[in-house]
Amino acid sequence: MTVIGGGVAGMSAACALAEAGFRVQLVERRGYLGGRASSYLHPGVNEVIDNCQHVLFGCCTNLISFYQRIGAANKIHWTRDMVMIEPGGHRSKLGPMPLPAPLHGLPRLLTSSAFTLEDKLSLARAFRAMLRPVAADSRETLAEWLIRHKQSRGAIERFWKLVIASALNAEIESIAVPYAAKVIRELFMNSAWAGAMGMSSIPLSELYANAETFLTERGSSVLYNTSVESIERDDEVTAWCVNTRTGKLVADFVVLALPFEALSKLLPNLPPAEGTGKLAAQIAQQEHWPLCSVHLWFDRQITDLDHAVLLDREIHWLYNKGRFQPWRNWKGSYVELVISASRSFASLPRERAIEQSLRELAEFFPAVASAKLVKGALVKEVRATFGVPPGIDAFRPAAAPSPWPNIFLAGDWTATGWPSTMESAARSGHLAAEAVCAEIGEAHRFLVPDLKPRGLMRLFG
Ligand SMILES: Cc1cc2nc3c(=O)[nH]c(=O)nc-3n(C[C@H](O)[C@H](O)[C@H](O)COP(=O)(O)OP(=O)(O)OC[C@H]3O[C@@H](n4cnc5c(N)ncnc54)[C@H](O)[C@@H]3O)c2cc1C
Repeated sequence: MTVIGGGVAGMSAACALAEAGFRVQLVERRGYLGGRASSYLHPGVNEVIDNCQHVLFGCCTNLISFYQRIGAANKIHWTRDMVMIEPGGHRSKLGPMPLPAPLHGLPRLLTSSAFTLEDKLSLARAFRAMLRPVAADSRETLAEWLIRHKQSRGAIERFWKLVIASALNAEIESIAVPYAAKVIRELFMNSAWAGAMGMSSIPLSELYANAETFLTERGSSVLYNTSVESIERDDEVTAWCVNTRTGKLVADFVVLALPFEALSKLLPNLPPAEGTGKLAAQIAQQEHWPLCSVHLWFDRQITDLDHAVLLDREIHWLYNKGRFQPWRNWKGSYVELVISASRSFASLPRERAIEQSLRELAEFFPAVASAKLVKGALVKEVRATFGVPPGIDAFRPAAAPSPWPNIFLAGDWTATGWPSTMESAARSGHLAAEAVCAEIGEAHRFLVPDLKPRGLMRLFG
């Protein structure tokens, strides 16, 4: 049994299959696990940094179950509050109060100074409209929906664009309403726990090192620095030959847990089969969005917050990583700024990106002006996440059937119903593992269902 791709999708498929008794070879092109959610020693700053801050939420049931399976769940630092800061430094705290869902978030939203009365009324209108699930086949964009629901400028700029579009890492004109509705309902309406935010207290690749331990303890293995170049059918032994740059692997089952661009490169080197044309056409419909992160080390503390949402500027999210990664032992502060879906920021050279980030950061935290920047790094991920425009679900293939017998698909972009997230990747891995087991007539359940809505939200399932 070979799983190709050591991202969250491949790891979650491999671990589930190893638990079910398969001997799995997890094959990864790079020298570490994690894929797009990984960390590495950045030579410019001589620090291990994540390629970008990755957050999860209480609603990420499959990712949490994968973390539990590999014994890494206790490394997640959870918070229920979200602090919004306006330029000038004025803060508003959003987060749950002890009221039945979906009312739990309302008191703080209604008293937040980040929104005018008009903004609050339009958000209340929008939340009311989102109480009922949006039809999954809706062709409306979020931008069109916001106009139809008469959203104020402040609500659009400070909530829809900043919180929702940036969680989906795309512009509102390119987001299908069902995906926006999913984010709103899970993060703000279904329950207080569903919207709680988690951040790893250790570097991402270290978090995933547990996956290797889990596999090796069950007779499985991870092959690093092994790039799969082609796959052929060996009809004599009715198995698949997975050809890598360093040798040949033989597998009865294969899970291709690859991003769509890597699968697209591999397609010409897989046997011709009915359905490959359709798969290639589905891949051709996928679109990437960039994400940038700016990592800054100051000689002193610049804020007492772990995390903040920064309003009205290019920098969107602040993670005060020195606070929830205290092992770093950095005497000042290590903060990471995340800039979502901004193609203009992604085109800036390093110096200008850091300069702009510092200038903007000082508008939120006055201490930045007197702090000394000790070092800084810019990480650009040009192909960070896939977009979720209307109609995208028709172009997300299921784990099975794939065009080839005993080959299954996984990856965040496959048919999970979730946007480009670690949860989608974990779901896809669990779905692929279930499909492999079903092929040999074993009914294993790895997919963890969505959290049930709580409180009054139970009436609006
Ligand atoms: C900057 C950034 C920020 C993000 N922020 C968040 C966030 O806050 N929260 C969240 O939930 N998600 C976030 N995401 C999205 C999340 O990282 C992805 O959805 C998820 O990690 C995808 O996992 P995957 O396993 O499907 O794919 P990948 O992580 O891309 O894994 C695929 C693996 O396959 C390997 N591979 C490719 N080709 C071959 C080959 N030929 N042979 C062998 N191996 C191969 C790759 O090296 C890689 O390790 C972010 C992504 C980025 C880039």
